[in-house]
Amino acid sequence: MLRIAIQKSGRLSEESLNLIRECGISFIYSSLKLKTECTNFPLEILFLRDDDIPGYVADGVADIGIVGENVLVEEGKADLTVERLGFSRCRLSLAVPRGSDYESVQDLNGKNIATSYPNLLQAFLEARGVQAHIHTISGSVEIAPSIGLADAICDIVSSGSTLISNGLREVERVFKSEAVLIANPELPQEKQQILEKLLFRIHAVQRASR
Ligand code: ATP
Ligand code: ZN
Repeated sequence: MLRIAIQKSGRLSEESLNLIRECGISFIYSSLKLKTECTNFPLEILFLRDDDIPGYVADGVADIGIVGENVLVEEGKADLTVERLGFSRCRLSLAVPRGSDYESVQDLNGKNIATSYPNLLQAFLEARGVQAHIHTISGSVEIAPSIGLADAICDIVSSGSTLISNGLREVERVFKSEAVLIANPELPQEKQQILEKLLFRIHAVQRASR
């Protein structure tokens, strides 16, 4: 039996479950359960917080998982990637208050930036020779400028409407993300074979939806 970790509830959950279903794999789903065994394929589904998924897969608690690249790369575990899945597309962007006279990334030198993705932001700034003070906060990043906590933010954007409603202007794209399938690199052969069967079905689903 192969164990897959997916997000319990959030922006990855529904499409992760849909992908498994589209692979012809059946299971009984209850939002109250933390795991479920599929009925017609040797797969067990674990429902976790997305941030915990790369670590659990790296440690072998789960064999494979579905997570956003933003979280995966932030946690330094990009090498676990086996397949890009094409859903939950979003970007990590820098934004400043609408009225700010921002012209280029150099304007962020010495500024305070709030984010939940300090490593991705640091890499972006470093590559451009910018030194800023990065403040790591875990949620509600978009209100940081209006309460005087930061001069700019670096946060996940899909349509941009959250930024606009908080009086912010998107100025730089830091990272582009989509959902990816990840796997523990040292799966025993039996599990590796199940993963290959699953990947075969995922590829068929991807071809059919193109
Ligand atoms: P958890 O409770 O599991 O920690 P969370 O609040 O951290 O959940 P979500 O907001 O559900 O996470 O986002 C999960 C992932 O979905 C993000 O890491 C990102 O890859 C992707 N995502 C985030 N926002 C969007 C969006 N607006 N549109 C599409 N995908 C998004
Ligand atoms: Zn999370």
